[in-house]
Parts: sequence; structure tokens; C-alpha cells
Amino acid sequence: MVNYRYLGNSGLKITEITYGNWLTHGSQVENDIATQCVRAALDAGISTFDTADVYANTKAEQVLGDALKGERRESLEIFTKVYWPTGPGGPNDTGLSRKHVMESINGSLTRLGTDYVDLYQAHRYDTETPLEETMQAFADIVRQGKALYIGVSEWTADQIREGAALAKDLGFQLISSQPQYSMLWRVIEDEVIPASKENGISQIVWSPIAQGVLSGKYVPGQAPPAGSRATDDKGGAKMISRFMNDDVLAAVQNLKPVADELDLTMAQLAVAWVLQNDNVAAALVGASRPEQVAENVKASGVRIPAELMAKIDEALGGVVER
Ligand code: NDP
Repeated sequence: MVNYRYLGNSGLKITEITYGNWLTHGSQVENDIATQCVRAALDAGISTFDTADVYANTKAEQVLGDALKGERRESLEIFTKVYWPTGPGGPNDTGLSRKHVMESINGSLTRLGTDYVDLYQAHRYDTETPLEETMQAFADIVRQGKALYIGVSEWTADQIREGAALAKDLGFQLISSQPQYSMLWRVIEDEVIPASKENGISQIVWSPIAQGVLSGKYVPGQAPPAGSRATDDKGGAKMISRFMNDDVLAAVQNLKPVADELDLTMAQLAVAWVLQNDNVAAALVGASRPEQVAENVKASGVRIPAELMAKIDEALGGVVER
């Protein structure tokens, strides 16, 4: 089973391994496989699910809502996000204006088949809308009961501080930040994490397996395995390309002995690694097959001793982004 952690300075408990459906549901995988992945997540003890209105241009929310139909709503934590256009466009179909936020939440709730989401997240920071306007819209959404909690994604430390202060003035709290974080991508450590800790915010980290790269299945000099994200021409290959170079792939292969010492697969080691950070509430994993979910959840509760954390740093050498 999967351990729970508190999300920020709130009473909400979420599974420390959370399932997300970016690039997969409504896109890379067929609906029946998507449903099997959600089923595998539920069977393994995951109760927290993350999506966004923009994933597969609204289809991912619909697929997730359908796959969760029949589950007891109180036993699930459902997260979604707002920012990008999901319709034909137009000047107001984007960003964090009051208009776009208030309209977007209604579409998300309909597609997800629920009266409320547990967490509603600003997918990016909107430099064109006054932050006061966005925060007031979020405060109203919370008061209307359409979202229980509010979070942000990929905001800088200063944006988090400013947003958290405004939220407090308006009588609610920002409780989460959703950035990219993995052994290979550690850019949040110096500024975002300290700003979050100051404000009772925790991280829900995306791509903890670096989109599959940290599973070790991509070998330098060899073609990517058939059906993997690196071969997905609907967008996956482009997204993963930043990690697909021989220096990174060769360094990742050095992690195999560390995983072996802990009797873990490399994907499990990658998930366990992000969970060593006490400001991380959840590793947000994706999957294209149910077996991957079953494998990855076994990282819950794993402690990596300090000497092996040091070996990981040594193994990755200069390829870590900070
Ligand atoms: P991961 O790093 O967990 O990568 C998941 C992919 O890696 C899978 O789809 C699969 O791809 C491969 N994989 C997973 N497990 C294994 C395994 N055990 N062995 C081999 N390959 C494996 O995370 P994602 O990049 O999918 O992101 C996770 C979630 O984070 C998203 O669904 C979304 O909810 C969120 N996210 C948020 C963003 C934001 O801006 N807030 C941006 C991006 C993601 P395959 O089999 O196809 O190779």
C-alpha cells in the first residue's frame, strides 16, 4: 500500500505516489489501457490523481473522470489545473484572468464528472493578469465549493511568496507547488523549496522518472524501445528529447548498481529519491502500462541511506541540472 503525506500546511492527506495522465490518456494510449492504468493505481493503493484541462486538449480529464466512475468520491483526491486554452482560442481563452479561471473550472468539473476538485492549480504564472484578480477568483471558487484547496505549478520563489501572501489576506491558503523534480532536474532546491517551506507549501513533483529515462531503458547508442515515450510522435518524443543524449543516458546506466544494492528497479529508485526530500508531498508518476504503476508504487516507504544518496550524485556527475 502507499503511504500518505500531508499536502502543505493543510489537513489534506494525499498518496505520496500520485498518478498523472499527461501525454498518455487521450493521446499515447487507448482508453482501455488508460482505464487499466487507473485501475492498477487504485488496486495498488493510490487515491490521488492529477490531470489538467489542457492535457490532450481536455480529453485526459474526460478519460480520468470515466475511469474513476463508480469510485467513492470521498476516497479520492482529484487534482486539475487551469491556464492554457482548451477551446478554439480567442483573447480570453487563456491565462489566469477571472473570466478564464471561472469558466475553466466549470468545464473541468463536467469532464471529470464531479462537483468539486480537491486541488485546483494555476498551471503557470500569468504575467498579464494582476495577481490580486487571480487570487480573488480562486478565493471565490473555494467559497463556492468547486475546489477545496488551491495550488500553483512552475511558479518561481518570488511568485510563490507573493501569491501566498495575497491568499492569506483573502482568507485561504496556497498549499502546493507542482514543479519538475528528479535526480536529473534539481532546479527547485535553491529557491523554490525554501520559499515554499516559509509558506507552508509542499511540492507535488512531476516527471520523477524523467519521463522514463531514469528507468534505464534508454541505452546510449541503441534505438529506444518500441512503444516508449521517446518513439511517440504525438508529442512525447519532443517532450523527452531534452534528456535523450548519450551523456545523460550513459550516466543513468551508472545508477543500476545503486538500485541493485537496495533491491529496487531503477524506476523505483528514481521515485524513492524524490521522496527523500521532506518538502515533497508526492511523486507524480505517469504510466503507459498498468505494470509500470504496480512497479513504481513499491517505492513508497523506501529510505535511501546517506551513503547511497552520495553514490547517486557521484554516478550522475555533471549531467544534473541545478
Ligand atoms: P514520469 O517521470 O513518471 O514518466 C512517466 C513515463 O515513464 C510513463 O508514461 C512511461 O512512458 C515511463 N515509465 C513509467 N514507469 C516506468 C517503468 N517502471 N519502467 C519503464 N518506463 C516507465 O512522469 P510524467 O512525465 O509522465 O509526468 C507525470 C505527471 O506529472 C503527469 O501525468 C502530469 O500529471 C504531471 N505533469 C505536470 C506538469 C506541469 O507543468 N505541472 C508537466 C508534466 C507533467 P513510456 O512507457 O511511454 O516510455
